[in-house]
Amino acid sequence: MNKQNKTRNIQLYLILTAIVTGFLLGHYSPETAVEIGFLGEIFLNALFMLVVPIVVTSMVTGITRLGRLTQLGSLGIKTLLYYMFTTAVSVIIGIILVNIIQPGKGIHQQQDYHPNATYSITATPLKGGSVLKLIDENDQLITTDYTSKFEVLLLDQDIRGVIDTESRISRKTIPISYWVDSSGKKVAPDSTGTGVKVRLRDKGFSFIDVVIGLIPENLVSAMVNNNILPLIVFSLIFGAILTTLGDKGRNVINLFEGLNEAFLKFIRLLMYFAPLGILGLVAARLGEAELTIAGGFMAEITRMAKYFVTVLIGLAVHSAFVLAPILLILGRRHVGKYLSNTTPALLTAFSTASSSATLPVTIECVEERNKVSNKTAGFVLPLGATINMDGTALYEAVAAIFIAQVYNVPLDFLAQVVIFITATLAAIGAAGIPEAGLVTMVIVLNAVGLPTEGIAMILAIDWFLDRCRTTVNVWGDSVGAAIVDRYES
Ligand code: ASP
Repeated sequence: MNKQNKTRNIQLYLILTAIVTGFLLGHYSPETAVEIGFLGEIFLNALFMLVVPIVVTSMVTGITRLGRLTQLGSLGIKTLLYYMFTTAVSVIIGIILVNIIQPGKGIHQQQDYHPNATYSITATPLKGGSVLKLIDENDQLITTDYTSKFEVLLLDQDIRGVIDTESRISRKTIPISYWVDSSGKKVAPDSTGTGVKVRLRDKGFSFIDVVIGLIPENLVSAMVNNNILPLIVFSLIFGAILTTLGDKGRNVINLFEGLNEAFLKFIRLLMYFAPLGILGLVAARLGEAELTIAGGFMAEITRMAKYFVTVLIGLAVHSAFVLAPILLILGRRHVGKYLSNTTPALLTAFSTASSSATLPVTIECVEERNKVSNKTAGFVLPLGATINMDGTALYEAVAAIFIAQVYNVPLDFLAQVVIFITATLAAIGAAGIPEAGLVTMVIVLNAVGLPTEGIAMILAIDWFLDRCRTTVNVWGDSVGAAIVDRYES
């Protein structure tokens, strides 16, 4: 074994040890675990710092290596075909499993719906918001994990309050940033009343907006917001133009090639810090869950065991029995080797819950370790990190049907077809950031008339499933790069 391989193996063992230690620490000593969370934040910041430079430079160099620009069309079509096929298969696996296992049967319907609860609202002048308090002894909120993705509905006043995530939520109180009426106008609610419900916010997700957003109004703001899709479009066009400029273009291309090399090296160096960063990320998140979930995280998993297992089996089946054979048969790759070379990216995906943050590591693993050409990986991976999400699609379908089962809403074949289509679209629309799939799930739930407050049930364990589905998302992108590469070279 050469020196480089030895170092990589040691690194891998250290990362695995970090994950196990993170879990143990988070479970047995949650306070300490939360305290070392800063290590994770440093790692995450460094990863995000590299996302924009690596996307732009690897796409530009990739495109300029294509040879003929017409090849871009064939590359694009093959990539999209792969994405569509694998995502569709993953949703079908999810739908079949959730119908067989029926995880929602017999589960107690849990939601934050309190039609008879009296509440009070007090202003918090310093913060510019207010706090809603449930007054009755028996009324409690189910979860303290609510974020600004959720809203509180005052049933008697028909007013919605956007949850303020900067402040802590308890079983009795929810901090609110501002209140709006049914037309979306900001209002001040009456200070007492009866009837409260917490539900997922419908952000009015629209695909037209996604298409419009492909062309950035401002390149710098797209970079600041880590908005990858517009950067992909920009880099594609920019790279294509460079190839038409002769010698002058060549100089710029050389510059980009140099920059790309430098950023890849940056990632390799950053990976030395990965074990510590990953330890911080895993420990802190589990520690936080242990401290905030009533009865602890394990108790919640046990309560939701069937749902949890359904998602995990689905993800495992898709990874092992769909993606791996595709890699072997269509990609002609040794699955074990390819997997072990990709493992740092998969473990980073697991610890960050973000395909976008993982992207620099994915590119390093796929291009440098698995020797997929830069001209395909530079295109397939950034695009995949934003729109190819097999794990998310599978999860969206399972979660929606699970909620239907709990609420006893029968779903006929047509409704399941609608779930198939919307779960696929919701996964494409989800950004590569933590729990983005939860937000786009409104699309699926609304399409078949399921209650968006049903999400309360799955919220407490969602952060963990998010990590698992993100790992599969990244595995799907990595396999895709090998397959498209084989048919492009
Ligand atoms: N966290 C996922 C990702 O980054 C998206 C999601 O399912 O929430 O790939």
